[in-house]
Amino acid sequence: MATLQNLLELNQPALAAFYAHIGEKSSSVNMRAKQTLKWLHQSQVTEFAAMTDIAKTTRELLAAHAEIRDLTVIRDSTASDGTRKWLFDVGSSAVDAVFIPEEDRGTLCISSQAGCALDCAFCSTGKQGFNRNLTTAEIIGQLWLANRALGVGVSGERVISNVVLMGMGEPLANFENSVTALRLMLDDNAYGLSRRRVTVSTVGLVPAIDRLREECPVTLAVSLHAPSDALRDQLLPINRKYPLAELMAACHRYLERAPRDFITFEYIMLDGINDSEAQARELLALTSELPCKFNLIPFNPFPGVPFRRSRPERLRRFAEVLMSAGVVTTTRKTRGEDINAACGQLAGQVGNRMRHLVSRTHPLQEVHP
Ligand code: SAH
Repeated sequence: MATLQNLLELNQPALAAFYAHIGEKSSSVNMRAKQTLKWLHQSQVTEFAAMTDIAKTTRELLAAHAEIRDLTVIRDSTASDGTRKWLFDVGSSAVDAVFIPEEDRGTLCISSQAGCALDCAFCSTGKQGFNRNLTTAEIIGQLWLANRALGVGVSGERVISNVVLMGMGEPLANFENSVTALRLMLDDNAYGLSRRRVTVSTVGLVPAIDRLREECPVTLAVSLHAPSDALRDQLLPINRKYPLAELMAACHRYLERAPRDFITFEYIMLDGINDSEAQARELLALTSELPCKFNLIPFNPFPGVPFRRSRPERLRRFAEVLMSAGVVTTTRKTRGEDINAACGQLAGQVGNRMRHLVSRTHPLQEVHP
């Protein structure tokens, strides 16, 4: 028997093409695609029989050629502050998604790759190495499952109001699958999120930032972490390929199409490395021409890493320098610590990188729209 097509892999045009392929009349493939998206992503059905506005003969065709295969949950934990984390089995390894509830929104942070090839000096995922790209079904599947678990709140609105691709991996290094998943998030027949409520966080892959601007401009967050090439080269090896001048130029270009008129810069606070007042002033000079906000992330240490978290006083002074120049600056709260749901907390579990179930954690809130 031919392999079954997982419908969670497909966005609207791909679903229409799939319907044509299995013999649906060309005049109805678009309608069928929309109906199917609604059943899959709004009603979260897992049985074709439940898709009651689709003709029975068509449902039988679907059953012969397709399946709805969601992710397998290894662990589902909720922290005392309400942060909830799912650990998913993706075959040779595991990835996680974290839900962060706040008063005015609910943000889901999802992963784009199992492991990561970028090897940033302070990141435990990087220490695992790269395993593989997640498929579209695995990326959207995290939202699918979390949405099904969380449903709608008392107001009748969906509990998940914002999505950030800020979990494990580099979304722009898994461009096609990430963008297909992004399109599903934006599609009114699927999740219907506005582009302001969907954020991609990137280490700064310049050509892919340009491509995202052309193909699917959503809110952009960039992991900056250093004000000079000399330091950024050491902390984020990708800087040797795409140095700061090129990255800043790409950010400027991105804003021509972005749903927001600023870029969010993430800046991890490493004690004595990148957290001096002089460095804050260097950052101001670097970004003076660019509408941006800063989100300072207290470093989460893990075993074997040579960095420490900046002291609160230093962090406060750093933030003050930025803010006194009029730059909106927030400090990310660490959430979900009791379930290892803050960046880097599970590094201690890293063993055999292909087999061990590893989870890194996640970034959070104020950066999100
Ligand atoms: N690859 C993307 C998204 C994944 S990482 C990117 O680089 O932006 C999400 C954020 O968490 C990034 O800003 C990353 O630098 C940060 N991060 C990684 N390890 C961390 C740690 N140990 N403590 C705090 N933040 C960390």
